[in-house]
Amino acid sequence: MRLRNIKGSREVIGASDYVVHEEETKAGTWHEIFGNDHPIYIEVGMGKGQFIMALAKRHPENNYVGIEKYSSVLLRALEKMDKEEEPLPNLVFIRMDAENIEKVFAEGEVDGIYLNFSDPWPKDRHAKRRLTSTTFFGRYNKILKKDGKVEFKTDNRPLFEFSLESVKEAGWNLVAHTFDLHHNEEMNEGNIMTEYEEKFSSQGNPICKLIADR
Ligand code: SAM
Repeated sequence: MRLRNIKGSREVIGASDYVVHEEETKAGTWHEIFGNDHPIYIEVGMGKGQFIMALAKRHPENNYVGIEKYSSVLLRALEKMDKEEEPLPNLVFIRMDAENIEKVFAEGEVDGIYLNFSDPWPKDRHAKRRLTSTTFFGRYNKILKKDGKVEFKTDNRPLFEFSLESVKEAGWNLVAHTFDLHHNEEMNEGNIMTEYEEKFSSQGNPICKLIADR
């Protein structure tokens, strides 16, 4: 993902109806924000939002929150939302670093968490920043409902193997996993391709996926 600082992106985001602002959110108020009591699913590191927009369209009975760290990337998601023929009242975005996720969501407020093609942070000293580190599983443990699941996809084999270990170390259960999602009929059923998934699978990279719960 190019991280150019697009001029004015913060202003556009500030004025957008699709964005909930980190400083204005209070953990435990997401049902008020959506105006209903439907389940709440989040994608951490949603990029330009292709996956979560398709998911929100497919499941109007759920609410979705797309989390992205960079304004310049979030802006692209806002542009996509503007091009939608029908509005998506069950989807909002928030620009924030997921390190602070426990400040934004209350205990058990989230029904499910999606992580797609998360940044690998290949240096050992940055391992805690990986969205599938035990540090992050600790954060997900707080905000996720008791029977909620984390679903993670990547084409990065070392990151995937690290993540399988993390699930175990964090004391979570590995519900299912595959090293080749697109050739695993059961796990691939209903799969929504992310932007990165389209790009890397078209280059011949197998896609890995894991599902974890506690
Ligand atoms: N999920 C998308 C996909 O599969 O096409 C985008 C993948 S891109 C490689 C990873 C995205 O996660 C980037 O847009 C990055 O800015 C975002 N990201 C990385 N670390 C993050 C964090 N700590 N909090 C929020 N977003 C983060």
